[in-house]
Amino acid sequence: MSNRESDLLATVPDGLFIGGQWRPATEGKTLAVRDPATGDVVRQVADASPADGAAALDAAVAAFPAWAATPARERAELLRRAFDLLQARKEDVALLMTLEMGKPLTEARGEVAYGGEFLRWFSEEAAHVQGRYGANPEGTGRMIVSQHPVGPCFLITPWNFPLAMATRKIAPALAAGCTVVIKPAELTPLTTLYFVRLLEEAGLPAGVVNVITTSTSGAVSEPIIRDPRLRKLSFTGSTPVGKKLLEQAAGNVLRTSMELGGNAPFVVFDDADLDKAVDGAMAAKFRNIGQACTAANRFLVHRPVAEEFARRVTERVRALKIGRGTEDGVAIGPLIDQRAVDKATTLVGDAVERGAVLLAGGSAIEGEGTFYEPTVLSDVAAGSSILHEEIFGPVLAIVPFDDEDEAVRLANDTEFGLVSYVFTENLARGQRMIERLETGMMGLNMGVVSNAAAPFGGWKLSGLGREGGDEGIHEYLQTKYTLTPDPFG
Ligand code: NAD
Repeated sequence: MSNRESDLLATVPDGLFIGGQWRPATEGKTLAVRDPATGDVVRQVADASPADGAAALDAAVAAFPAWAATPARERAELLRRAFDLLQARKEDVALLMTLEMGKPLTEARGEVAYGGEFLRWFSEEAAHVQGRYGANPEGTGRMIVSQHPVGPCFLITPWNFPLAMATRKIAPALAAGCTVVIKPAELTPLTTLYFVRLLEEAGLPAGVVNVITTSTSGAVSEPIIRDPRLRKLSFTGSTPVGKKLLEQAAGNVLRTSMELGGNAPFVVFDDADLDKAVDGAMAAKFRNIGQACTAANRFLVHRPVAEEFARRVTERVRALKIGRGTEDGVAIGPLIDQRAVDKATTLVGDAVERGAVLLAGGSAIEGEGTFYEPTVLSDVAAGSSILHEEIFGPVLAIVPFDDEDEAVRLANDTEFGLVSYVFTENLARGQRMIERLETGMMGLNMGVVSNAAAPFGGWKLSGLGREGGDEGIHEYLQTKYTLTPDPFG
């Protein structure tokens, strides 16, 4: 580890942040954070118990009335200052993410830009929450519709985008006037801890944001979710955990937002611009080493261009540099842990056994860290597990199709519905695909769709609610309708 890296790691707070104070876990336990490129422990942070979780919720509940009553403009300015501070520290935040998560530094910088935009966007949205006033149709009264913060929120984030998943939830919650407890993934808590220190510098009042890091997520989270004082749960993570949390949330009919797993189809028609399609494929598949909910999982390619598409992506994939994310030119860092490597190994093994042709990669890389080769498979047979499970790794699986109806049937043949990608130069065909594909988002001749100004979210088992866009702040607001008498009556 370089001096720059160890100096940066030493600046990251290692405590829980509760009611404006940094403090150790009550039982004095810590959890180790590792660099997946080397397996080395880079930092120990507090390992919260259920008692710490309860204290964090107490703090969020206590801080709520004053924060809800804080003028929107002040809340907006806090977020804007945080945005500016993040720009000033972008190199530190990017390096920290690479160290704890493994993504290439250039991509980590991209995540700082993307994650920061939620602070800027919701600083702008905070002051634009509107109500309505008007006569009822009978003319006998006046109807007032007003918006109110839902209350204390619990935010649970995954390891794959440690900054953006936190800002995508914290920024709209604070903009709406809610207070929060945030629980980052145990594999990547450092970015959230660093970011919350930055919010503190921006002038965050005590108790408005509380952070608990823990190795026992289930035991710490369940009592918080079941506490009647909690008013909102926002979760980003896997569909099985999301389902479990929805069951827990049902007891108090808790407001929930669920950003869950995906199984994105990437459809290439024979009328596509193949250069654009290949560029889009590389971004949609290999960004974040394939560990994105929006990662293209199944490449459905029109038979007349399937071979040429496979040839071109294989050439590009063979040129990808593998290594620690801090090294120059690296495009493929380590997977997050050994489980992820084992999953890629099993899925590729199953596909090959069922007749898929291996065009590149196909193996875990021996030695330090948890690396898997970027891989291309063509002619993947129906029934292969790789077509039904979220790969979450750098494996590009190609399935040929013969006509548009078959493409639609294959694309929709999944319980997930987060995002789809379609490449065609035929406008009417593109429009038909918008209407026919069952996903909450679509990239039409684009391999990346994420934007703070857009409503991000899925259909089917991919989730509930939207983050970002005009919709994002409404996840943290509740509507009240009031009827008043006709003032002239
Ligand atoms: P995960 O479900 O294992 O964990 C997500 C978070 O939930 C982590 O903070 C984890 O500690 C916590 N958690 C795990 N079990 C819990 C429990 N019983 N109670 C409370 N909290 C619990 O998912 P992951 O492996 O961290 O992330 C990968 C998954 O996230 C993928 O399925 C991916 O598609 C999904 N994801 C979705 C989006 C989206 O916006 N739709 C974005 C990023 C990731």
